Amino acid sequence: MTRMTRAELRGRTQTVLGLIDPEQLGSTLMHEHIICDITPPKLAATGVEGDEIDICNCWQINYGQKISALKYKLNQADIAAREIKEMLEAGGKTVVELTCGGLKPRPQSLADISRTTGAHIVMGCGHYVHDFQDKTNHTRSVEDFAAEITAQVLEGAWGTDIRAGIIGEIGCQAPWTELERRVMQGAIIAQQETGAAINVHPGRHEDQPQEVADFFLARGAPTDRLVLSHIDRTIFDEGRLLKLAATGCVIEFDLFGMEQSYYPHSDIDMPNDAIRLRLLRKLIEHGHLEQIVISHDICHRTRLTRYGGHGYQHIFKNVIPMMRRRGYSDDEIDTIMVKTPKRLLAFV
Ligand SMILES: [Zn+2]
Repeated sequence: MTRMTRAELRGRTQTVLGLIDPEQLGSTLMHEHIICDITPPKLAATGVEGDEIDICNCWQINYGQKISALKYKLNQADIAAREIKEMLEAGGKTVVELTCGGLKPRPQSLADISRTTGAHIVMGCGHYVHDFQDKTNHTRSVEDFAAEITAQVLEGAWGTDIRAGIIGEIGCQAPWTELERRVMQGAIIAQQETGAAINVHPGRHEDQPQEVADFFLARGAPTDRLVLSHIDRTIFDEGRLLKLAATGCVIEFDLFGMEQSYYPHSDIDMPNDAIRLRLLRKLIEHGHLEQIVISHDICHRTRLTRYGGHGYQHIFKNVIPMMRRRGYSDDEIDTIMVKTPKRLLAFV
């Protein structure tokens, strides 16, 4: 296996098909899953399969009325390719695919889908939250995680020679577990070795994203290459949001298309897309335009158009026109969809 050097990566973007010029990226979804299995360990243990999903029960499954284990499995490459083609037709060009350890990553499928559709796919690496991690991780050291993640970027990931172009989504729960801190420390070392950006899945406590940003600051790790995911299900007050933005990190609103109040993990006031755009406007008013990225974080079948959901095309077909109607300028939209992803996905 040939090992990429830091010099070869610098200023370039690494997709599942190899290095490209970041100028080629275009409009980018910064947090999606194309091939993924996010079956909750507790559900997997019951062996319950539940219903097949169709457009008649899609809403009921999404609202927790019906259980379907199939909801958590994005494992149909032909359907995935069709959904990605819809995104391309709607104006998207690149997808950052953050299926990492614990979520059954399949790099070869991503490479195949990229080849058949023409979409650029940038793959993540590292490990998801504690509860999804393999038991063998529990005794591993920071150095071991650092070496693994570095090799996933420089050599290839999950038994293939397909290399990651970003680190993450690195999982955290609330409270943050000791294992997850070790993985995070390893990810920071791998970032120093490779120059990749890091995407973090923070725990669901409203102060957990700040805890992660402070962890980076305390170690002198660059916050401008730290993307904090899922802020739309985590922080609900302006004070916390602006304090987090003041650390210099990138704030990711990545649940666009989830417009229902039901949220299975906790009883929160889930925002809809219109409210998300209001919160982003607040960040822009406070000078944080260049710290915003958006996405759908599709990880359930029920969110694919095939099953009655919004699909990867939603931001391009529906959200960007809504942004225009709400006074977002072309430059603001371009910064969020193109410029900031391009900066993050270019190795330093
Ligand atoms: Zn995700």
